[in-house]
Amino acid sequence: MPLLIRNAEIVTADGRYHADVYAEGETVTRIGRDLEAPPGAEIIDGTGKLLFPGFIDPHVHIYLPFMATFAKDTHQTASVAALIGGTTSYIEMCCPSRLDDALEGYQLWKSKAEGASACDYSFHMSVTKFEEGTEGQLREIVADGISSFKIFLAYKNFFGVEDGEMYQTLQLAKKLGVIVTAHCENAELVARLQQGLLAEGKTGPEWHEPSRPESVEAEGTHRFATFLEATRTAGYVVHLSCQKALERAMAAKSRGVRLWIESVLPHFLLDKTYAERPGVEGMKHVMSPPLRQRQNQDVLWDALANGFVDTVGTDHCPFDVAQKALGSEAFTQIPNGIPGIEERVNLLYTYGVKRGRLDLHRFVDAASTRAARLFGLFPRKGTIAVGSDADLVLYDPEYRGVISAATQHTNCDYSGFEGMSIEGRPSVVTVRGRVQVRDGKFVGEHGRGRLLKREPVYF
Ligand SMILES: [Zn+2]
Repeated sequence: MPLLIRNAEIVTADGRYHADVYAEGETVTRIGRDLEAPPGAEIIDGTGKLLFPGFIDPHVHIYLPFMATFAKDTHQTASVAALIGGTTSYIEMCCPSRLDDALEGYQLWKSKAEGASACDYSFHMSVTKFEEGTEGQLREIVADGISSFKIFLAYKNFFGVEDGEMYQTLQLAKKLGVIVTAHCENAELVARLQQGLLAEGKTGPEWHEPSRPESVEAEGTHRFATFLEATRTAGYVVHLSCQKALERAMAAKSRGVRLWIESVLPHFLLDKTYAERPGVEGMKHVMSPPLRQRQNQDVLWDALANGFVDTVGTDHCPFDVAQKALGSEAFTQIPNGIPGIEERVNLLYTYGVKRGRLDLHRFVDAASTRAARLFGLFPRKGTIAVGSDADLVLYDPEYRGVISAATQHTNCDYSGFEGMSIEGRPSVVTVRGRVQVRDGKFVGEHGRGRLLKREPVYF
């Protein structure tokens, strides 16, 4: 059914104006004043509302075997949560471990999403080892439409790569024109610091942050940047959490290293005191890199406003309270992760735009457009233009609500952002021209999501 959204204020990364948007099939076909719709078209009144391009979460975990358990969401639950929060595409980390075959892992991750996701999706392909045969497998995966890799400098012996493997991965990425995303923490230091703390009887969640301090992340960031420089490859630091790491990344950027920076929602809004709460309350807020000292939040907001931090993802990774409690005896056994796929856009809008920390266009850029550009989706995604996919978020800036696990759609029994107020939410969300969400309710078609084939960008 054709779709006409009338009289909304369109806001993209670089424009703001009142117009009607008409979509036919899956695509925006006309933008203008006083557009007519044929009989049978769905007409939505956008008066008083903002119209954003569908938001893109560049960093989520949905299917994830990790730390002796599995993350709780399926693509069905995660995509509904994403859409209700205004995210119309996500890029999931495909994470086979060092023990797994990469290609089999890729097929497995793909099979979990196919026919299950209600929004569009892609994957960053994790390279967790580099051995004979790896190059051929990665070439096959890139040819299937995956134009980004992920490496872990952390999680020794599980996801983590050795420096030599990082070098080989970057060299191949350079040849193939794909960007490499990286979790930057020094695995060896984390392992040693963990052992030391546990040996001193320091077992609670409050010791998670001291086991992976800011300097450990700064080292990983610097090392990754140095390898990018040596191999002349394009890279993207995921979930950068603190000033020390930012300084290393900025130093690399300023000497011409092609490096982009993502920070994730929890690090803008939560600090390490959350993880210092006793027992399972603290465990709910354990993620890596950890929640930091509060002063880092202002640093990240400023860097985001200036565009030094390029994108905001979530690192969405729901483990429920029973799973978190696996770490009751030792913080090293707490499954790492905080859910956020549903809250990202509303919290960023409320605490960024509404609080005057973030320009409205930079908000759209950070939450949608820049990820589309970096990961080979622009201008199909990430903007509102004739020819783009009709992924549209009609946003109600007058809505007021409070975040609560009781009303969330993510399959998890807690929210890391419990009790935070939001000032705005999507009133209509479309995926390729079809209305999937209305006023906080999923009204669409499950399984509508498609794997987004992405071309290498050759930075
Ligand atoms: Zn992650």
